[in-house]
Amino acid sequence: MHLPFCRSRCHYCAFFFVVGRAELREDYRSALEREIDGWANDPRWAGRPVESVYFGGGTPSLMEPAAVDRLVKRADLRFGLLPGAEISLEANPDDLELSRLEGFRAAGCNRLSLGWQSTRRENLRALTRTHGPEDNRAALERARDAGFGNVGVDLIFGLPGQTSDSWLGELDEVAASGPEHVSAYELTFEEGTRLTRRHREGRFAVPDDDERARMFEGAEDVLQGHGIRRYEISNFARPGHECVHNVSGWKGGDVLGVGASAASHFGASRWTNVADLDDYVARAGSDEGVISEIEELDETTCTAEELYLGLRTTEGVLLGGRIDRLPQAEGRRLLEVLDRAQASGWLLREGDRVRLTRAGRLFADTVFDQLLGG
Ligand code: SF4
Repeated sequence: MHLPFCRSRCHYCAFFFVVGRAELREDYRSALEREIDGWANDPRWAGRPVESVYFGGGTPSLMEPAAVDRLVKRADLRFGLLPGAEISLEANPDDLELSRLEGFRAAGCNRLSLGWQSTRRENLRALTRTHGPEDNRAALERARDAGFGNVGVDLIFGLPGQTSDSWLGELDEVAASGPEHVSAYELTFEEGTRLTRRHREGRFAVPDDDERARMFEGAEDVLQGHGIRRYEISNFARPGHECVHNVSGWKGGDVLGVGASAASHFGASRWTNVADLDDYVARAGSDEGVISEIEELDETTCTAEELYLGLRTTEGVLLGGRIDRLPQAEGRRLLEVLDRAQASGWLLREGDRVRLTRAGRLFADTVFDQLLGG
């Protein structure tokens, strides 16, 4: 469920979000409820109980806990939440007074994803984040006080001026503070952001390829040393705390995205909602609906995507006769990609299962591009 409100603009961010506009939060919440109601009558989703709800953003922790409570209740009323369903909320460390955290917990949230991004003040400044390292630590402590037993810390690496030594030191600090889950994404330069423009102007340098490879690989060693194991290219967890929502996506499970700009996935169908707050609020629940783009994937693209998503996970993916069902030439093309990756030492085949090797994870993007026909 996409909650797009943010306090300020982070210069690297290319997600759909709006700064301020707090007066629209209630209208937006009721638009989300109208969209949920609509999907509950759609034969693709009707009667399918929910195993996870993920409040992503934007900055979901800016919403009032009472609004989150209503949304959880609405999802339960219309679809039914499975017992023990994972309900995750992304949160910025500087919005988290104890009373708000208690409110989110009372609303049913049982997993918190804290956007620390870095433990170093200079990195947080470079990312134009509005919190400091002390806010990060305090947010985690308060989350524990509020009763959250499942907390993830989200980080970015490959930052201006960052070295692999300092990044690995950060990971040590993060792990020592005891989260159940760590996400570590490399900084990417997205079109249209201020950070990208400044980078193109040569205003700062980021670590080179070798240094970024050391950061990527070293992360696994440091976190593993603390009992937090890599289960996906960018995600690490203590056993039993892998994110249900993400795992379902990597296994090709159907995902209903609700809210402005939210993306959904059902079988071979993909669709995205309109990325405009006013438009979304006006259209939710109307005959026009909120979808802005629909795509139907052909069988080859579906298979390539399933392989791509499955290979992101450390356990890999079962071929399961997927390739045999494709037109011969297409099946051969995908097999050749897998064979080349295997010959390079990037991929292992164990019976019907294929998975990336540790070395292969460094070249994952190359394999993924080839699978998807790039
Ligand atoms: S808080 Fe998150 S969604 Fe909002 S601008 Fe920053 S990175 Fe983007």
